[in-house]
Amino acid sequence: MPSKHSRIEAKKLAVNRSERKFERPLDINGNLQRASEYYGENVFHYLTAPGIPETIKDELLSVSTSGIKLKKEHADIVAKAVTEWATSKGATHFCHWFQPLTGSTAEKHDAFLDLDGELPIEKLSAGQLMQGEPDASSFPNGGSRTTFEARGYTSWDLSSPMFLMDSVNGKTLCIPTAFVSYHGDALDMKTPLLRSVTKLNEVATKFMNMIGYNDTKKVTVTCGAEQEYFLIDKAFYFARPDLVMTGRTLMGSLSHKNQQLDDHYFGRIPERVLSCMEEIDYKLHKLGIPAKTRHNEVAPGQFEIAQIFREANVSADNNQLVMAVIKEVAENHNFIALLHEKPFAGINGSGKHINWSMATDDGINLLEPGVNPEKNLKFLAVTSIVIEAVHRRAKLLRMAIASQGNDHRLGANEAPPSIISVFTGSNLEKIFEAIKNGESVSEEGEVVLDLGATQLANLMMDNTDRNRTSPFAFTGNKFEFRAVGSAQSISFPLSILNAAVTEVFEESITFLENEIRATSVDTALVKLTQKWLQSSWNVIFNGDGYSDEWVEEAKKRGLPNLKTTADALPSILDEEQTKYMVEKGIFRRNELEMRYNVLVENYNTLREIEFQTQMDLVKKSVLPATLEYKKRLGKVIKIQKEIGLESSVEVELYKKLNFTVESLYANLLNLTNACESLNGDPAKNSLEIANNVFPLSEKLGESCNTVEDLIPNELWPLPTYYEMLFLR
Ligand code: ADP
Ligand code: MG
Repeated sequence: MPSKHSRIEAKKLAVNRSERKFERPLDINGNLQRASEYYGENVFHYLTAPGIPETIKDELLSVSTSGIKLKKEHADIVAKAVTEWATSKGATHFCHWFQPLTGSTAEKHDAFLDLDGELPIEKLSAGQLMQGEPDASSFPNGGSRTTFEARGYTSWDLSSPMFLMDSVNGKTLCIPTAFVSYHGDALDMKTPLLRSVTKLNEVATKFMNMIGYNDTKKVTVTCGAEQEYFLIDKAFYFARPDLVMTGRTLMGSLSHKNQQLDDHYFGRIPERVLSCMEEIDYKLHKLGIPAKTRHNEVAPGQFEIAQIFREANVSADNNQLVMAVIKEVAENHNFIALLHEKPFAGINGSGKHINWSMATDDGINLLEPGVNPEKNLKFLAVTSIVIEAVHRRAKLLRMAIASQGNDHRLGANEAPPSIISVFTGSNLEKIFEAIKNGESVSEEGEVVLDLGATQLANLMMDNTDRNRTSPFAFTGNKFEFRAVGSAQSISFPLSILNAAVTEVFEESITFLENEIRATSVDTALVKLTQKWLQSSWNVIFNGDGYSDEWVEEAKKRGLPNLKTTADALPSILDEEQTKYMVEKGIFRRNELEMRYNVLVENYNTLREIEFQTQMDLVKKSVLPATLEYKKRLGKVIKIQKEIGLESSVEVELYKKLNFTVESLYANLLNLTNACESLNGDPAKNSLEIANNVFPLSEKLGESCNTVEDLIPNELWPLPTYYEMLFLR
């Protein structure tokens, strides 16, 4: 009798699943509602929402932009207005929504319902809006606080709008908040991000004013994240304990056709998936998240969603919601969305591209090259500042994207390598090379592509060609940090990147102050660009980042190659690397230590869960299946012997299987022993795991794959790659 979660049951369920078609609502005339009609329906922003007097809007805005204190009476007005808005839309509860160091989000719901004497009323007080007190002891804190200081505070972030989340019978109002300890230490991802954009704004604005852009009053960091994910049938998911426990398959033999033909990328989206995507877009649009692009990705069963860029903090909140909505809607369509960086071995993993730039309040994108980039001195200087920042803080950037999941992608010839380099494209490289060498810059101008077909519109060639192998690429008018993992919060890498750029901006200001006195702004800018290009030239690489030659070359250039999370994390404790961030208060020293402890602990725990799950699967499913096949073969061989028939096939198979089982068992024992010997401190353990234990687990996985290839299909206990990735 197959259990509820057996492969056989899963197949039946997957084949006979109920299809759910998403139906976009109609307007009063019976036409499909336009996106602009429902966009932002579930968002409350005090600047646009009803019930907030014009007179206080500016003041509210300056709380988030210039750090003035929020007045209680103003919070009162917002609280009343948002209560009326949310409850009229069916909300029963509100919550402070925050991003603890787990990398996901947390929420604790409270009912709007209150009592006025014995009279039931709906209420959210100014105090409840502004501040919450979740018990901090249950969130990762890296040992920073003892239990008597378990108090943690959430504090309303006025720069990110409140929103309504659907619940089973109604809605919950989510108030984006930061999460800090009693002593003001950031226990979350948001606080350092907010500090970093504030600091970057200060220095970048000063920089702009200095070089003659006197109207610039503010510089914001802009960010648009592209999110990759896999969809598989829900039924298969529950029949794969490894997926349930760890988010990735710990064994699995490749089907013969996987992604060699690249026929999935940008291919026709299967109808069932499209219906799911439509619902995802619909929900996101109602949440005021401008989802823009959707398409198939490289691997079968893999997809991508991208949203229009916006201010970094809001974008980071948005991305958390994008991940949550993908997961939730997928389930409604009988899928499970896998956000893990590497759900399937041998098949492309998932990443998250952070598109990043800076924009002024008067509409200038600091990374816009314009038609004559060689003459755009502001652009060239700012770009060189970013390149210098990436060069100088490469280790920190690598650290900020380190996770056990992402280790499977970085350096695995499918994602950018763990060597941080910058792609500029050949045009820009030529210009930069000239500046670096003090030569005059040749005109590159705009290039029109001749397609040899007059029916087609002219294509303007981008100033940069595309290079998918670079972890940090200039793509037209922004940089794209591509090495980020699909499951990660983008806040942390954003904070580190912003801090690194801030540091170089600040030094640039000092440099310019001296230079401008002696020469013109233009000459000073060229000199500045030259200075940064000379010091950071080694980080620029426009070749194939997947090649072995690059690994060699990077080594010669002295670029760090931190292969695993265990290698990468200690950079966060490196005082030389972090000195500036700490001085500027973007991270406090103890916050960095706290993050190190949390990240190491996380890495070790997740890996150990993988090992335990894999060993369990081997013992309870893989070994019994091989023994069953041995038994069957043995019977045949015995019968053949009895009737005097000579056939070597069965004996050959039997021997092969026997050999495989022996090595499977040996690999199991090796992993078991290695796990048992893990008793060092967390830092030591992480290195031991990365360098010695994990390779044993990989070996065990390979043995399982050999078994899967050897035994009859019906005896294999787990849904196969073929079933999970191709069945629609
Ligand atoms: P790709 O070729 O990488 O898929 P797309 O044009 O589809 O590029 O989207 C890239 C992402 O970059 C989108 O999210 C877009 O909003 C974002 N983006 C565009 N300009 C900027 C900018 N100035 N700052 C930050 N992000 C940007
Ligand atoms: Mg991209």
